[in-house]
Amino acid sequence: MSRQIIIAENAGFCFGVKRAVEMTVDTNNDKKSKVYTLGPLIHNKDVVESLRDQGIYSIDNDYFGDLSSEDTVVIRSHGVSSNILEEIKKTGASIVDATCPYVTSIQRKARKYHSEGYLIVIVGDPKHPEVIGINGWCENTAIITKTGDELENLPDKVCVLSQTTEKQANYEKTLEAVSKLSQDVLAFNTICSATRERQESAYSVSKKADLMVVIGGKNSSNTKKLYEICKENCQNTILIENVYEIPDDLIEDSNLKIIGVTAGASTPDWVISEVINKLKGTSPS
Ligand code: SF4
Repeated sequence: MSRQIIIAENAGFCFGVKRAVEMTVDTNNDKKSKVYTLGPLIHNKDVVESLRDQGIYSIDNDYFGDLSSEDTVVIRSHGVSSNILEEIKKTGASIVDATCPYVTSIQRKARKYHSEGYLIVIVGDPKHPEVIGINGWCENTAIITKTGDELENLPDKVCVLSQTTEKQANYEKTLEAVSKLSQDVLAFNTICSATRERQESAYSVSKKADLMVVIGGKNSSNTKKLYEICKENCQNTILIENVYEIPDDLIEDSNLKIIGVTAGASTPDWVISEVINKLKGTSPS
């Protein structure tokens, strides 16, 4: 069957996720302490299982009471609030801070401009750990919005920040809404370039594809956004976590001449390769 597979130019592990995985594995290899991650290290169950096989387990805040100076806690790339860092320090456990430097920069802006009297507005998902963490750096005073539609009665001084994986259009809409309501607006488009590049590549590949395959965790915010972008251009878009989730009928459908593939920032290369091999018909499975 003649079939073209187009892989998005920017797909898979981003700098921050790669760094977090490497820092965690390196810390564990030192064997100086028991290593835990605060929450699943990344939104990819294959990677989380592989870490578990190496003895690295995910914990949540309820576990802090059981930590000791023998332990190390890895902060994942999403980052956490300053209060959580303090709570871990009190247990005596060591901290390996794998917060992505791009997220750290947003946290610092939230702290700085909050202390200068600005109301912080975060464009993003209020339930996402990155947003919860950033809000913690401005004493949980931020207004969190998706598009700014519901905003009213803002103070004069407002600082707009965005979740690193937010859509550009949502950031722009919010900024427009804030600019109508406040005099002194500071705005930082903190959407990560890795996210932007992945979204742009996914957009252009999905324009040409008969079938678009998005690989990534179902809980991954950046993966879900890639899916939404692809779906707008290509009705026939599927979201899978790994090779085993590719429906057989799609593999056999000879009408699908061009298949596009993209992957979220938490998807390792080996998962992407397995999917591509299966789509090409060269997979051993
Ligand atoms: S998407 Fe960007 S901000 Fe998020 S971890 Fe990756 S490099 Fe860092």
